[in-house]
Amino acid sequence: MFFGSAVDKALNHLLLTKNLDEAKDVFDKEFKTITLNGEVIDVEVSPKVHFLESDLDKDLLLPEDLDKANLSFWSLYRKGLIMVQSYHDFVLPKIKEVLVVQKEIEVTNDQGDVLHGVLDLIVKFHDDKVYLLDNKTSSNKYDQDAASNSTQLNLYNYLLKTGYEIDGIGFIVLNKNIWKKKTKVCSVCDFDGTGTNNRNCNNNDINGNRCKGSWNVKMNPSCYIDIILDEPNPRVENMILDLYDEVNANIKNNKFIPNFNSCKRGKFRCVYYEKCYNGSDAGLVIVEDSKKEIK
Ligand SMILES: [Zn+2]
Repeated sequence: MFFGSAVDKALNHLLLTKNLDEAKDVFDKEFKTITLNGEVIDVEVSPKVHFLESDLDKDLLLPEDLDKANLSFWSLYRKGLIMVQSYHDFVLPKIKEVLVVQKEIEVTNDQGDVLHGVLDLIVKFHDDKVYLLDNKTSSNKYDQDAASNSTQLNLYNYLLKTGYEIDGIGFIVLNKNIWKKKTKVCSVCDFDGTGTNNRNCNNNDINGNRCKGSWNVKMNPSCYIDIILDEPNPRVENMILDLYDEVNANIKNNKFIPNFNSCKRGKFRCVYYEKCYNGSDAGLVIVEDSKKEIK
């Protein structure tokens, strides 16, 4: 979550200013330190931050990273910078005009409930089509109908209806499994052995002898970015609005219905797990209203 949020902030800066170096600085600052419930957290070393096994990719570490305390953090740090660079190289050239970045919108329904959301992005592409978009970082590939069937995008599209004319909705998905684009070239004869498994150079000279020179392996890592554009799905819009009405009614009646699918995510438990299952307040803190924001 902290990683995705730091990448998001860097991409927003990039979209607004087109300044790659500043955007990388934003990622650097936002990923290293966060403020959670009023407490300043050093992401690299805090026990409150959990890393996944897939976060660590040793190939991406630079020599100066190797003696640091938390290699998972530095691997993610390198991934973030590569993502910002790739967004600059591959996504920005497709955009003709950035219309909206991070806009808060509110709509009040007939019950007086206020629906509140923050739009990531509205852009005009070079074909003059206007899209409501959301940037995502993910280790998994998104389905091709992920945008059309997204509750989030369809809800935002609903919230927007009073403001913008849009042609479609979409996700820009940055894959966290960095594409390394390794090349290997013979140090003796410059033969390109990229993609082969030979341990040393297999180029033959005019007498048919193998060169056997050692390979120079180089990496040109970049992020695979999937842009999924589609039309809104009115059925999803109806489902999510009905669900909001139902949940709001339940909250007014003090009914908080658990979602059992969210009790465990991999090896992590919901923060309310002990409360629900054992009636214990262990691990819960009461946060003052003024400190509820995550920065
Ligand atoms: Zn060779």
